[in-house]
Amino acid sequence: PVIAGTLQDVPPPNQPDGTPTSTEQRFHYKAETQRVMQLIVHSLYSNKDVFLRELVSNANDALEKLRVLRLREGVEAAEPAIRIRPDRHAKTLRICDTGVGMTRDELVNNLGTIAKSGTSQFLKQVRNADNDAATLIGMFGVGFYSAFLVSDRVEVVSRHFAANSSQYRWLGSDLDAFTVSPDEAADLDGGQHGTCVTLHLKHDDVDRYADVEKVEQLVTKYSQFTEFPIYLYKPVT
Ligand code: ADP
Ligand code: MG
Repeated sequence: PVIAGTLQDVPPPNQPDGTPTSTEQRFHYKAETQRVMQLIVHSLYSNKDVFLRELVSNANDALEKLRVLRLREGVEAAEPAIRIRPDRHAKTLRICDTGVGMTRDELVNNLGTIAKSGTSQFLKQVRNADNDAATLIGMFGVGFYSAFLVSDRVEVVSRHFAANSSQYRWLGSDLDAFTVSPDEAADLDGGQHGTCVTLHLKHDDVDRYADVEKVEQLVTKYSQFTEFPIYLYKPVT
């Protein structure tokens, strides 16, 4: 459930095509979450590549959860896979999985409004220069926010695996708030359920992270964090 006090009434923002939506809701990050984002950005600016490790490991976790449900409860699911699309033209990098996906409340809670139990430990330990921040983000469950090392804006479109689940879109920056709205688009990249994280890359990061060859090197390095197939899409030339 949504935590009381995080929900805000705001004037309906505009869609890209100018039509206002009344269903978009705006939330404030929890204060600890904001501090986590700031610290990640400050302590990992020279080690930005780790964001991809974290996003691949989140995709892996989501696929692993679904694998277990499939075995135990016979849940029907799409072919398990991770799909990665660098797009130089759009200045984006997209990481999709056909895993468990998130409900609307899970998007709100897991990506911003509920601080994880490890958060305060992370905040303490990351201030100590002897600790390796890249290791700490994985240990204390704050890896998602490393997306802001390379992104101005992050978009997460997700559909929970349960039958008839609706698709929702989370959109946030590393400033103070994010929005969640129903997503009318058809199926997710690669499947009916799962999650697509689209990074709108910072100007200085486009050359590195929207370039298919550079992304391929990184994906090869980080593929050790998953047993599931990773497809890397190359632009048609
Ligand atoms: P951790 O993975 O250690 O829990 P993260 O900050 O990486 O911490 O992710 C926070 C939470 O967001 C995860 O626990 C999970 O519930 C949710 N999440 C993130 N990415 C995905 C994804 N691709 N599919 C489903 N849930 C996700
Ligand atoms: Mg993670």
